[in-house]
Amino acid sequence: MVLSGDIKSELNQYLQLMEGDVLLKVSAGEDNTSKEILALVDELAAMSPKISVERTVLPKTPSFSVNRIGEDTGVTFAGIPLGHEFTSLVLALLQVSGRAPKVDQKIIEQIKEIKGQFHFETYISLSCHNCPDVVQALNLMSILNKGISHTMIDGAAFKREVEDKKIMAVPSVYLNGEFLSSGRMTLEELLSKISKPIDPSEINKREPFDVLIVGGGPAGASAAIYASRKGIRTGVVSERFGGQVMDTLSIENFISVKSTEGPKLAASLEEHVKEYDVDIINQQRVKGLKKSDFIEVELENGGVLKSKSVIIATGARWRNVGVPGEQELKNKGVAYCPHCDGPLFEGKHVAVIGGGNSGIEAAIDLAGIVKHVTVLEFMPELKADAVLQKRLYSLPNVTVLKNVQTKEITGDDQVTGITFMERDTEEVKHVELQGVFVQIGLVPNTEWLDDSFEKTRFGELIIDKYGSTNVPGVFAAGDCTNSPYKQIIISMGSGATAALGAFDYLIRS
Ligand SMILES: Cc1cc2nc3c(=O)[nH]c(=O)nc-3n(C[C@H](O)[C@H](O)[C@H](O)COP(=O)(O)OP(=O)(O)OC[C@H]3O[C@@H](n4cnc5c(N)ncnc54)[C@H](O)[C@@H]3O)c2cc1C
Repeated sequence: MVLSGDIKSELNQYLQLMEGDVLLKVSAGEDNTSKEILALVDELAAMSPKISVERTVLPKTPSFSVNRIGEDTGVTFAGIPLGHEFTSLVLALLQVSGRAPKVDQKIIEQIKEIKGQFHFETYISLSCHNCPDVVQALNLMSILNKGISHTMIDGAAFKREVEDKKIMAVPSVYLNGEFLSSGRMTLEELLSKISKPIDPSEINKREPFDVLIVGGGPAGASAAIYASRKGIRTGVVSERFGGQVMDTLSIENFISVKSTEGPKLAASLEEHVKEYDVDIINQQRVKGLKKSDFIEVELENGGVLKSKSVIIATGARWRNVGVPGEQELKNKGVAYCPHCDGPLFEGKHVAVIGGGNSGIEAAIDLAGIVKHVTVLEFMPELKADAVLQKRLYSLPNVTVLKNVQTKEITGDDQVTGITFMERDTEEVKHVELQGVFVQIGLVPNTEWLDDSFEKTRFGELIIDKYGSTNVPGVFAAGDCTNSPYKQIIISMGSGATAALGAFDYLIRS
C-alpha cells in the first residue's frame, strides 16, 4: 500500500469530481520506485471506475503519464507524486478528466494560442514547497496545448541524472533539454517564457489611474482593496503577485488564521483583490518614476503608466553576502531556501551564513538532513531567540563559528568550500564543504527610485504616519519602508494606511 488511510479518504473525495475517463500509462522496471508506482496506479484504479492502467515504455523509467482515452496529454510523473506533490497528482487527474482549472479564462486562451513544441522537465524534491506550483503550472499548460509536454522528475528517484546535471536547487526546470530556470515560478511567469511579450503600446493605452500601486505583496494587495473600495480608479503593477509570501512555508501569526501556507495566502490575496475593480498588470517590472502632469511609472518593457497618486509597495528580497563565488555558484551549491534545497545536500557538509532566527532555523532544519552544518555569524554572539539557540547547541552535527567574516565561497562549477576570517585574530581559514545557505536578512527593493526620495541608510523609504513619502502624491507601504517590523499583518496595515492617505491627498488636491 502506497496510499495511507488519511490520504486515501481525501483522494476519494477528489476522485468523485472526475468528469471523463483517464488512462494511466506506466513505464516500470524492477527497482523499488517502479514497484511503488505500479502499486500507486493500481490503488488509484481501484478507487475510481474512471481510471484505467496500461503498461508501456516511456522515455523515463520509472514513470507514469496521465492521459485522456486515445490522446496523450504529455503529463508525466517520474517518481511518486506524494508529499508536497500530492496536489499535483490530484489536479492532473481532475484536469485531464475534463474538469475546468481555476485559472483566468484570459490565461487559458493565452496557453492555447502558443505555437511550437515545448518539452519541459522539472526536477523536484518531495519536501520542496516551491515545486508544486511549477509542476502544476506546466502540467496545466501540457493539458491545454498539444505542443507542450511536461515531466516531473523526483531527484531522489533519479539521483544519477541529478548528479550528472549538477542540480543543486529545486525546482530546476529544463526546456527542450536546456536549463531554463530554478526556484518557484507562477503559471504567468512560466507562460511569459514561451509566449509573446506584452506589447508596451497595450500598456500605454490605459487611462490614467487615480491610485497606481507598485507591488503585489500583502502591502500592495491591501492598498488596492482599500483604494478600490473608495470608488477610485485603481491599478496594481507587479513583477510577481504575492511577493515574499510566495516563498514562505508556514504562517502562524496572521491573526484570525491559525495556520496557513504562503502560496495559499497569496492566492487568497489575489482572489480578494479580484473581487474589486482593480486593473492588475502582472509580470511587469517597474524601472523608474517621474513627475509630469501626472506621476509617470516607467516599466522595463518600455511602457508607461500614468496616475494621480502612486503607492510604492515593492517589498524586499534576500540580502546577498556579496563575496566572490556567491553569484557564480548560485544554484550550484549556493542556496537561499533550506526547505526547498536541503534534501539535495543529504549526507553532505553545508554552511549557513547568518546567526539570526532565519539562519538558526535553517541550521536546525538542515542538521536533520545533511551530514554536518557549520554556522557562520559575523557578530560575537548569535542573534537568534534563546529557544532556537538551545535547540541548535543540542544537535551533535553542528559547529557554530562566531565573530567570523565570510571572505569567499570557493568552487568551479560546484561549491567546494568557504573561506572566512576570524575577526579577533584576523586569521583566514578555509572549510571544505558542498553547500552554502545564505540567511542574512533582506534588502528593500527601492534602488529604482532616484535621490529625490528620502531613504534610510538601508535604502528603506521614509514615510510619515499617513504613509506619505517626501514626494507629494507618492505614498509607500510594507517592507520597502522604514517601518521597524517587517511582517505580513504590518504590511497589510500600512497598505491600508497608504491607500487612505492617497485618497485624502486626492480629495484635497
Ligand atoms: C521565508 C520568509 C518567511 C516569512 N514568514 C513570515 C511569517 O511567518 N509571518 C509574517 O508575518 N511574515 C513573514 N515573512 C515576512 C513577510 O513575508 C513580509 O513582511 C511581507 O511579505 C512584506 O510584504 P510587502 O507587500 O511589503 O512586500 P513583498 O511581499 O516583498 O512584495 C513586494 C511586491 O513588489 C513587487 N516588486 C518588487 N520590485 C518591483 C519592481 N521593480 N517592479 C514591479 N514590482 C516589483 C514584487 O514582485 C511583489 O509583488 C516572511 C518572509 C520570508 C522571506
